[in-house]
Amino acid sequence: MLPFDNSYARLPSHFHASVLPAPAAKPKLIRYNAALAEELGITLDAEDDDLLAAIFSGNTLPEGASPLAMAYAGHQFGGFNPQLGDGRAILLGEVVDRTGKRRDIQLKGAGPTPFSRNGDGRAALGPVLREYIVSEAMHALGIPTTRALAAVATGQAVRRETPLPGAVFTRVAASHIRVGTFQFFAARGDTDGLRTLADYVIARHYPELNGVENPYLALLHAIVDAQSALIARWMAVGFIHGVMNTDNVTVSGETIDFGPCAFLDEYDPKKKFSSIDQRGRYAYANQPGIGQWNMARLAECLLPLFEGGEEKAVEDANAALVRFGESFQRHWLNNFRAKFGIEGEDDDDLALINDFLGLMHQSEADFTVTFRRLGHVVGGESSTSLNLLPDELAQWLPRWQARLGTGRDPAHIEAVMHATNPALIPRNHRIEEAIAAAIYDDYSYFERLTGALQKPFDEADATADLRVPPTVEERVARTFC
Ligand code: AMP
Ligand code: MG
Ligand code: MG
Repeated sequence: MLPFDNSYARLPSHFHASVLPAPAAKPKLIRYNAALAEELGITLDAEDDDLLAAIFSGNTLPEGASPLAMAYAGHQFGGFNPQLGDGRAILLGEVVDRTGKRRDIQLKGAGPTPFSRNGDGRAALGPVLREYIVSEAMHALGIPTTRALAAVATGQAVRRETPLPGAVFTRVAASHIRVGTFQFFAARGDTDGLRTLADYVIARHYPELNGVENPYLALLHAIVDAQSALIARWMAVGFIHGVMNTDNVTVSGETIDFGPCAFLDEYDPKKKFSSIDQRGRYAYANQPGIGQWNMARLAECLLPLFEGGEEKAVEDANAALVRFGESFQRHWLNNFRAKFGIEGEDDDDLALINDFLGLMHQSEADFTVTFRRLGHVVGGESSTSLNLLPDELAQWLPRWQARLGTGRDPAHIEAVMHATNPALIPRNHRIEEAIAAAIYDDYSYFERLTGALQKPFDEADATADLRVPPTVEERVARTFC
């Protein structure tokens, strides 16, 4: 079955609230991720759709589960809310996977919790499918992320602006502890709770910090490193998270909360899709700055735990934020160097990369297609296929060629570039198409897209149509959560 071992449930009672999933009317399995289940050591019969639907809708509680909603706080679009918590998510429990890593199994949309405030605790089919598609695509791209274990239709409508079909999503995460979890205790002046949480996070995510000097500062550094590396990965594939509130920032360094997220089509650093992000706070190019801002909020929480007195604690916290900037810059450069097939480091790399990005912006070029074609150009294809402004491109190309150097095998460079520049990303218009069909009970688009995205670096003929950028009419301007 599910080999639960629920460590979060053993933490003090004000960390969480016990809650049972509410039954779904007519659960029907949409998709079960049997490969992930295997990795988690789950031994449920992957062919038994009814059993899977019953468990992953919340109708049947598996043995050993200790369902709970986690308490947390958070800054939402800059404004602090001391009391959020899992309003529509229920942690069933944890399993230790085949590699020895502890993973949370959580139902999203399985009914209200003590933290639901005015919400119904439910999820609509569309966002469930989007999270399934995009989180699994991120994993296939090699980017740390929560995973999708199952999606189940509830057979019940949820009331949004209009009634929509409901669904439950089963999320797997290294943990669901967020910056907002630390804020929950800090906001209450609960230093004991804060220390208990920090110790738990060290034991679970950063065991190498056990026993080091000034451990909570070391923890801040570790989270700063994980988040800066993560955001650099997002930037390198054109991912816009969309709602980088502190309650959506994990301490594990996994991407979480695939609400109004989207991938860039044409390159525009100011791009944002989210309907609720009116000012573009979470636009593409703002993500590193916001990441640092979120780390500042975490640092504030941890201050009372740092050693050496108040003045030193503040100095250390500020140094950790500087470290974020440096770490991000290093990761960003390394990610983008790989995208250009560049080896080693050169002082002019930043300018070379930024000039190309500027050219893409001016040319309204598709981010994913352009980088993929750049690999083909190394392989001998004409640079006109890049569809970039020709005069500017003619100036840029020799600089890149000089930087690539002579004596390297072009086929090797091309292969390296193709291993880092995906051919296929989950494009917004394809996700919308899959959702629209699923609402009429046709899951073939969802299945096809999910399947194809398992191999994002392949240029198979069968996925050619999925790789094409949207036409002007197909472009999705807004995303909703
Ligand atoms: P999110 O925007 O998904 O990060 O959610 C922010 C907060 O709103 C979290 O505390 C969620 O649990 C809560 N929330 C979002 N949707 C619902 C819902 N349908 N019912 C109850 N709470 C919700
Ligand atoms: Mg959230
Ligand atoms: Mg959300």
